[in-house]
Amino acid sequence: MLFNFQLSTPAQGLVDITNEVTEAITESGVNEGVCIVYCPHTTAAITINENADPDVKYDFLMGMDKTFPDLVSFRHAEGNSDAHLKSSVVGASEMIIVSKGKPLLGTWQGIYFCEFDGPRTRKFYVKVMGG
Ligand code: ZN
Repeated sequence: MLFNFQLSTPAQGLVDITNEVTEAITESGVNEGVCIVYCPHTTAAITINENADPDVKYDFLMGMDKTFPDLVSFRHAEGNSDAHLKSSVVGASEMIIVSKGKPLLGTWQGIYFCEFDGPRTRKFYVKVMGG
């Protein structure tokens, strides 16, 4: 089953979408299987990371900015090449094991929609498969 979600994002930020993914799995009725969380945007991404200390999100974005600065020598006229780089490196999707009707995550893991060029209205898909 395929589910789609919409969200409003900040200028840059990690939005916790663990509850939405869990909700999709519950609604699918799949008990054992996998799910794919997919972002159909070129300046955003999906990742799994720590959900305990909010400073991790801050440090993640700061580290991304240091690693991928907005260079004046970039050619892309839209002016968001740094966001395109971050999107590709973090990746458009995550595959998560579904066990006992829930995403099989570690104690400190959450699923995040990563915005690198907001604020915008964005969407993401969750595909849940049994097996
Ligand atoms: Zn662009």
